[in-house]
Amino acid sequence: MKFVSTRGQTPPHIFSEAVAVGLAPDGGLFLPESLPDISGRLGEWENLGYADLCFEFMRLFATDLDPEVLRGIVAKSYGNFSHPEIAPLRRLGERLYVLELFHGPTLAFKDFALQLLGNLYEHQCRVTGHGIKVLGATSGDTGAAAIHGLLGKPHTAVFILYPEGRVSPLQERQMTCTGAGNVYAIAVDGSFDDAQRALKDIFGDREFSAQQHLSAVNSINLARVLAQCVYYLFAWLRIPAAERSNLEFVVPTGNFGNVFAGWLLSRMGVPVAGFKVATNRNDILHRLFTTGEYRSGTVTPSLAPSMDIQVASNFERFLSYALGGDAKKVRAVMEQIIRTGVWRFESFDRTAFRSSRADDAEISEIIRRVHAQHGYLVDPHTACAFKDLDPTRTSVVLATAHPAKFPDAIRAATGVTPTHPALEALKVRPVVKYPLSPTVAAIKGFIAAR
Ligand SMILES: *Cc1c(COP(=O)(O)O)cnc(C)c1O
Repeated sequence: MKFVSTRGQTPPHIFSEAVAVGLAPDGGLFLPESLPDISGRLGEWENLGYADLCFEFMRLFATDLDPEVLRGIVAKSYGNFSHPEIAPLRRLGERLYVLELFHGPTLAFKDFALQLLGNLYEHQCRVTGHGIKVLGATSGDTGAAAIHGLLGKPHTAVFILYPEGRVSPLQERQMTCTGAGNVYAIAVDGSFDDAQRALKDIFGDREFSAQQHLSAVNSINLARVLAQCVYYLFAWLRIPAAERSNLEFVVPTGNFGNVFAGWLLSRMGVPVAGFKVATNRNDILHRLFTTGEYRSGTVTPSLAPSMDIQVASNFERFLSYALGGDAKKVRAVMEQIIRTGVWRFESFDRTAFRSSRADDAEISEIIRRVHAQHGYLVDPHTACAFKDLDPTRTSVVLATAHPAKFPDAIRAATGVTPTHPALEALKVRPVVKYPLSPTVAAIKGFIAAR
């Protein structure tokens, strides 16, 4: 299996190469050259546990890895989850299920992809014989998940920049209280955008990034998308057969990464009635799916901070399919979006998608109502998904974070303060962070010295 860039100006890459480089050299995102049809395998996969299912799925794509090596990487990645089912599906009502994706080390769904990516990187270091320095900027969950994907791994170091004072205290503890010697949580004196800009310049210096073996952690790595397909498949296989074709996955969304993975899976011969894209007040995707127009706006902080995004970086993958794989058109549209911030679909097949938007008051009200009706606590991101459920369909809501990560919002809505032992344990560990100014020179110097 080969992977091609959405912009069509990169030669096809094998899995390991596409994972190693992340972004395609032509600035595009990698997609499989063709999608396998897995409809004939679903019966035999029905009773597989999570790691076995993940292995069977990933081996269709990671064809350049020895299957036994891949099996080991997958087993290790999901060995760190605290729930025996890895992604348990809970039934809340007649036609309502919640897929809990928060039992990984950092209690958010990003662990599904970043545990796997960390182990793929580790394998790569072993094969190539050189170390790797992973660099990223975060406004919260991604940084913590990336750090925990690489924690203590030999020949790897992880540098995560975050805006000092602007991530939640628990998120900061997840990054700074790991006790691992290869983790550098860098508290920059500036905003997330300042950190992001500095990173862009550092990666733009090809000589420096090659010499330091830098790799980017961000939401666009191909391995992340494929790893995320697996929990949709796992959930689908656990829904009673009679309900499967009338099933709607409901997905809290920021970068369009998570919901894109589900949609991609549905194109491999897994019948699903549709997807609901659930946004908070930063509703670029809700506006896209209701009007056909993609228009970036300014970000307003919300109760669901990991969805405070107005540029959906994985959108380009969807666009590529929507434009029939025409790389020239993709380039023209992306160029227009970068230049003007707006793009309108001429003809847009939206049948697979619905969308909704929840503002902060609605998020609180939903947290209260779901707790009152079902005795179940949802975090503010997951709460967005409960807006406008379709009563004629079976809904599978993806729960993207554990409620204990957002105790203040939950307490305000319900009077209950959720806790989790992993978070309590962090509170007694020392904080290790590295204050830096978000300048290219300061960050480069820091990285080169380690
Ligand atoms: C990252 C994140 C999201 C948004 O995921 P996308 O893949 O960017 O759509 C939603 N909820 C939580 C808790 C997250 O950490």
